[in-house]
Amino acid sequence: MLFIRSDLSQLAAYKTQHSDDSQQTTIDRVDVNESPYDLPDQLKQKLSWTYQQTIENNRYPDGGYEGLKNAIAEYVNESSNSTFTADNLSIGNGSDELIRSLLIATCLGGEGSILVADPTFSMYGILAKTLGIPVVTIGRSLTNFEMDLVAAQGAIAQTLTPPIRAVFVVHPNSPTGNALTKAELTWLRDLPQTILVVIDEAYFEFSQTTVATELAQHPNWVILRTFSKAFRLAAHRVGYAIAHPELITALEKVRLPYNLPSFTQAAALVAIAHRHELLSTIPLMLTERTRLIQAFSQRPEFQVWESAANFVYLRLKEINTQPRLAEICQTLKAQGTLIRQTGNGLRVSIGTPEENQRTIERFNTLSF
Ligand SMILES: *Cc1c(COP(=O)(O)O)cnc(C)c1O
Repeated sequence: MLFIRSDLSQLAAYKTQHSDDSQQTTIDRVDVNESPYDLPDQLKQKLSWTYQQTIENNRYPDGGYEGLKNAIAEYVNESSNSTFTADNLSIGNGSDELIRSLLIATCLGGEGSILVADPTFSMYGILAKTLGIPVVTIGRSLTNFEMDLVAAQGAIAQTLTPPIRAVFVVHPNSPTGNALTKAELTWLRDLPQTILVVIDEAYFEFSQTTVATELAQHPNWVILRTFSKAFRLAAHRVGYAIAHPELITALEKVRLPYNLPSFTQAAALVAIAHRHELLSTIPLMLTERTRLIQAFSQRPEFQVWESAANFVYLRLKEINTQPRLAEICQTLKAQGTLIRQTGNGLRVSIGTPEENQRTIERFNTLSF
């Protein structure tokens, strides 16, 4: 079809393992870092009531999200001792949408390239490419996954066409689980104001590390957060950006008018109102994370890293080939555990204690 942009022929649609066989309840889905816990029944009932009593299906959603923004601002402020308001927030249909909005607002139309350090969240590169935005990729340390800052600085200093307009980092990174290091933070602080710094804090509730307190000093920084992980709302698609009001204004310009369905807004409001209950599973998940790391460490074949998020990353010490990693995923899947092969390694999400127990047992049956 000659009317389709020619560069799209290089790309494939984003597919997850979820659509088909993984829906069986016998499968432990520890591959996409969701919370293993659904909403408590009481909250589901509350949401059902909201659906029946207050949502007018024939009406467009409230498109301003003022109530939700105020609630999010309060949550962000209480967890970072800040004074953000609704003017500092834009809400997306998942933070994926905000990533795309940021790309549209900064790099589209041949105005900019982006910089990422692999391995990292794949969506930055994927969405950039769908918009025809060039992606500059640098590497990371093999020991602690710190970005290759010499290469990063080199890429910025280079006279690229188009120049790097946005740097994307995850804090803590996925799939490697490490928080930004001192050197990385220093480098990000020193970047010129002509470059947007996107700091994705999707796993903030697990890491409790945030750059929110520094945001006021850096108008070229934006923090992304999501309700898809610790808040247990992956099904509803809610993410938010925290930034200087001028950047928020730009994001609001490129946003679709009704990007957040009414029921999604209701779910996010309920989740924030009940945040203490929803986030109360986190300490247990962190204990379970230690248990998984210890169990994996006992296999001499694997190198395992500490993690500040709700997943563990490991690599094979020898024969760390893609086919070998794929084979491990297949073997585990056949036994009922879905994990993720990514970034030259394996990423295992923290599940319920029972799921983790099965993950450990199934890993122990792997032969080399
Ligand atoms: C899971 C995740 C997100 C969340 O995306 P949503 O679109 O909000 O579900 C964003 N960034 C990173 C790094 C993630 O791992």
